[in-house]
Amino acid sequence: MNTIAENVKEIRRRMEEAARRSGRDPGEILLLAATKMNGADRVREAAAAGVDLCGENRVQEMQQKLAEGAYENVPLHFIGHLQKNKVKNVVGRVSLIQSVGSAELLEAIEKQAAKMDLVQDILFEINIGREPQKSGFLPEELPDALKQAADCSHIRLRGLMAIPPAAETADETRPYFAAMRRLFEEHARDASMEILSMGMSHDYEAAIEEGSTLVRIGTSIFGERYI
Ligand SMILES: *Cc1c(COP(=O)(O)O)cnc(C)c1O
Repeated sequence: MNTIAENVKEIRRRMEEAARRSGRDPGEILLLAATKMNGADRVREAAAAGVDLCGENRVQEMQQKLAEGAYENVPLHFIGHLQKNKVKNVVGRVSLIQSVGSAELLEAIEKQAAKMDLVQDILFEINIGREPQKSGFLPEELPDALKQAADCSHIRLRGLMAIPPAAETADETRPYFAAMRRLFEEHARDASMEILSMGMSHDYEAAIEEGSTLVRIGTSIFGERYI
């Protein structure tokens, strides 16, 4: 078994190669460690290995690790499904909420951020595979959502995020990444968005080739998760 530091080094190498292959600057692509089910010590190990960001999926797990000081050396994002009644536990505690996929959630975050007198950075999650069981805005819902975000003075929309349908190979996922990039480019300038969060352990190189600026990696850093 490789150490976390060895895994991070290998991922960085592959990220750089994917960036070069597609004529991009490797420095413009961020590596987020998806830290779910890994304890505070392993989060610290990933931070020491030089990941740019950490991302948590579950509010309770995040609170536990926050209390343990796990993220002292690395900015934290929320990347999981967020219920409205948990918004108060996340706003102001993370530098970015990546998974804002409904008008109701956006409104709840705006209200909480106003109450706390801060501006919360967010991404819009897009249900790019149009999967009924998944959350996120459908692509055609994005223009209205952008208008709503522009009216929220306590929210700063920084970009888009997607989790494409599970696939056997990265090449099956590639068309979804390309569709995300088109959607992003169509709206990026008007909405001043600069982050396109896509790509996980099995497909991050394809995601980078298709324009990702932030990859979210769990298994390839920490090994398989056992529940
Ligand atoms: C777990 C998770 C990842 C990382 O998945 P791996 O396949 O383990 O790399 C990325 N994004 C989200 C939203 C996740 O929940």
